[in-house]
Amino acid sequence: MAKWKQKLFELKWGRYHPDAFSRFAHLKGSEHMPADQLLERQEEARRKIVRYAMEHTEFYRRHYRAMGLEAGDIGKSGWFEQLPPVTKEHLRIHFEEFTDASLKPFRRISTTGGSTGIPTKTGYDVRIPEECYIWRILDWFGVSPWDDRAHVWRETRTTWKQKFVNRALWWPTRHLKLDASFMTEQSIRLFFTQYNHVRPALLQGYVGAISQLARFVIDKQLAVWSPKFVWVTSAPISPVQRKLIADAFHAPICDQYGSCEIRWIAQQCPEGKGLHVNVEHVHLEYVDEENHPVPTGVYGRTLLTNLEDMVFPLIRYENGDRGRWLLESCPCGRSLPVIDTVKGRESESFVLPSGKTINGEYLTTIFDATPELTRGFRVIQHRDLSITIECVPSSDQGVPLIESVVSDFSSKIGGEVQVTCRIVREIAHDRGKLRFVEREK
Ligand SMILES: [Zn+2]
Repeated sequence: MAKWKQKLFELKWGRYHPDAFSRFAHLKGSEHMPADQLLERQEEARRKIVRYAMEHTEFYRRHYRAMGLEAGDIGKSGWFEQLPPVTKEHLRIHFEEFTDASLKPFRRISTTGGSTGIPTKTGYDVRIPEECYIWRILDWFGVSPWDDRAHVWRETRTTWKQKFVNRALWWPTRHLKLDASFMTEQSIRLFFTQYNHVRPALLQGYVGAISQLARFVIDKQLAVWSPKFVWVTSAPISPVQRKLIADAFHAPICDQYGSCEIRWIAQQCPEGKGLHVNVEHVHLEYVDEENHPVPTGVYGRTLLTNLEDMVFPLIRYENGDRGRWLLESCPCGRSLPVIDTVKGRESESFVLPSGKTINGEYLTTIFDATPELTRGFRVIQHRDLSITIECVPSSDQGVPLIESVVSDFSSKIGGEVQVTCRIVREIAHDRGKLRFVEREK
């Protein structure tokens, strides 16, 4: 059965993304390459992407010229650290200028509430076989890409046709799904019945939703299957959540770090404490207020450079997270550098009077379809369970549309509690930290 599954998988994926297999073989080699060799290759990739961006995109041409930087400066001592960072504001205002006109047919758009509550729209190159980074994670934890999996996240394929095509593409591999947007006791019980029957190699989903399932397993004393690992995404996992999930599923946990702008940044090592950075794909820096690198062990602002994406080059892009390099080297022997668990946002789930919960990660996606409407938002649940959505509009004309997004959200949760839309000039910070899904305690 396993061999047959593998053959079908290779046949289908070979047609869909033929480069993925060779790219994966390359990754398996490079993760054990001497570190200095890996760095050298990376430096070369940085020179290439910066030169390309400077010569082919309107945004970088102007952005760097304003600082007096020219193509001839590439490769000079400290050249990369002199490049001015790119912000979310740049993406918002100059989106079209990031892509060379000839590459627009390969651009796809990705939007999210993101890590900071500022809706962000970004582009990416559809030709990059990103699944090789998924396969790298699976490989580290002993799972094959054709093994059965269980997913807990927002249902994105809504039409019958989309669901059918996805199922056909994966068959005979089984992908169980639980919609994390609204989980009820009934939907969770149904999920676990199928889950225990299928016995998937992997349980994967939003960290908040998986924690909620873990709490359910423990409270109801359910007997559940232990997958080879539990893969959590979308927000940093707290030590409390880590323990809860481990206690419920008796499986190792993989904390994966990515964002809508650059998806495959780093993932937990099965043997060490930290997350290994995919340096073949991304250059990660932690910097101080002057954009200079901070020493290992010291927290700094995150700057990311996508090394593979010519369609939408992101160079020293500030994604709003804070993090640090780990002091200790990893016992696994892989040469990929190691970061600590990322300090970012926390997201909380809301509970409605009926007992239904609204997943925190879902709340971050309220403006995903219309990111241009707002410059920032925050969702608050008050002690009486009513909900307020604070929103900074991009323009006064957009306010009625924002109100209609909020009213759609109110209908989605079945009108159980009052949902208020509050237009504000800015989102208040909580001691420097922006908590954009918040429950009043
Ligand atoms: Zn390791």
